Amino acid sequence: MVRNFIIERIIENKFSTSELYSRYPHPLVGSLDLWAVNKFQNLDGGAIRAIQFRKAKKIIQFAYRNIPFWSDYFGRIGFNPETMESIDDLTKIPPVSRELIKQSSIEYSFIRTKDSIFDTTSGSTGIPFGFYYSRSTLLRRKSIYLRNLSWVGFSQNHQIVRIMTRDITGLSGVGNFVSCRGPEELEEKKLHIYRLLNQDATILEGVASSIFYLAQLMEKDSVKFDIVAVVTTAERLSQGQLSFMESVFGAKTYDCYGTREVDRIAQECLKKEGLHINSEWVYVEIVDERGNSLPFGKSGKIVITTLDNFVTPLVRYELGDRGTILPHLCSCGVSLPLISFEGRTFEQIELPDHTIIHAFEFSGLFNRFSDKILKYQIIQESIDRISVLIIPKYEFTLADQQMVKNVFENKTKHLMYVTVTVTNQVYSLPSGKTSVFINKLR
Ligand SMILES: [Zn+2]
Repeated sequence: MVRNFIIERIIENKFSTSELYSRYPHPLVGSLDLWAVNKFQNLDGGAIRAIQFRKAKKIIQFAYRNIPFWSDYFGRIGFNPETMESIDDLTKIPPVSRELIKQSSIEYSFIRTKDSIFDTTSGSTGIPFGFYYSRSTLLRRKSIYLRNLSWVGFSQNHQIVRIMTRDITGLSGVGNFVSCRGPEELEEKKLHIYRLLNQDATILEGVASSIFYLAQLMEKDSVKFDIVAVVTTAERLSQGQLSFMESVFGAKTYDCYGTREVDRIAQECLKKEGLHINSEWVYVEIVDERGNSLPFGKSGKIVITTLDNFVTPLVRYELGDRGTILPHLCSCGVSLPLISFEGRTFEQIELPDHTIIHAFEFSGLFNRFSDKILKYQIIQESIDRISVLIIPKYEFTLADQQMVKNVFENKTKHLMYVTVTVTNQVYSLPSGKTSVFINKLR
C-alpha cells in the first residue's frame, strides 16, 4: 500500500523526480524515477486508468486556464475541463489536427517558460511543426526509454547504439549516438559504427531504413557483431526486409512507435504481441473518420493526449497514424495496454474508386530488388497517376522496370496510369530527408 502510494506520487509528479533531477542530477534520483516507471507497468488496469485520469485532468485544466489556444478551443466546443469526472469525458472533445495547431502562432498554442526548449518535427509527415518541451520532463523520458529497452532484454552488461538523424531529447550520456541522415552518410560512418558495435553486446536502435541499410553493408562486408536486439522506429519494414535483417544481425527486431513532439509512445517487448503503450506518459485512443471513439479491437486514427509536458499540452491530438488498441493483454506480464501500428495515414495511396492502399505494401517489391536499387520514391501525382522514381545501384534493365510497373498496375487494380523512371535524383524534404512516398493530393 505504502509502496503503491509512493509509485503514484512519483508518476503523478506530486513528488517530481524530474524536477528534482534537473536541479540536483544525482543518480539516486534517476534510479528512483526508473523504479517508479518499472513498478507502474505492473499495476492493474484500473489503477493505471485512475492515474491517467488524474494526470489528464490536471494537464487539461492547466491548458484551459493558461493557454489561449485551448481556452478558445474548449470554449468553442462547450467543454468545461473543471467538470471532468472520468477519462471517458475526453471523448467529448473533438480531435485536434496538427494543421489546426500549426495555423496559430506558437505563443498562442504553447507556453514558453525559462524551462522550455524549442524543437521541431522533421516534417516527414509533410507538416513540419515547432513546439516546446519542458526540461523537467527529461528524466521521465529517459526512464521510459530505459524501461522500453529492458522489454527487449537490455541489461547493465549491454551497450546501446542509436543511429538517427537527431538524437532523442534527454538521452545525452545514455548509450552511443551516431548522427546519420541517410544511406550516403551511413556508408561514410560505417567503420565508426563497426568499431562501436565491436565493443560490447549491443542493443541497436534506429530509423528502420538506416538499420536495414546497415544490414546490407554488414552482409557485403561479411562482418558479424554481438547484437542482443534491434529496435526500429518511424517506418514500416516488409516481412522480407525483417527476415534479412534478423539473419544478418543474428537478433530479433522490435517495433517502436513515437513522434518527435510526443517522444516514445509504445514499443514491442520480447513476446511481440503488440506494442506496449507508455501509459503514464501518453493516453492513446482510436477514433473513426468523424472523430468518434472506437472500441478496443477496431482499427482507426490514433489520437493522443500527453500527460507530462505542460509547456506543449496536446489534447486528443491526431498524429496522422492508424492503429488498433488490442483487446487483450500481453503474456509477458506487463499490464500496459497493447497497440498495433498500421502505418501513417500520409503514406496512403488513394485510388480513383476511393479505396486506400498503403505505400509500404510495395516495400516487398523493392526488397526483391535491394541489390539493384539504391533508393526509390513513389509519388501519387493525381487521383489516377502514380510515378515511381528509381536510383539504381547497378544496371536496372527495361525488364526490371516493366516488372515494377506491372506490380504497381496490379496493386492499383489497373485504375492508375503508372510511370517508372530511372533517375539519379529523388525529391528531398526541407529537412534533407527523402521520403519514400509523396502524396500530391494533399
Ligand atoms: Zn509484453
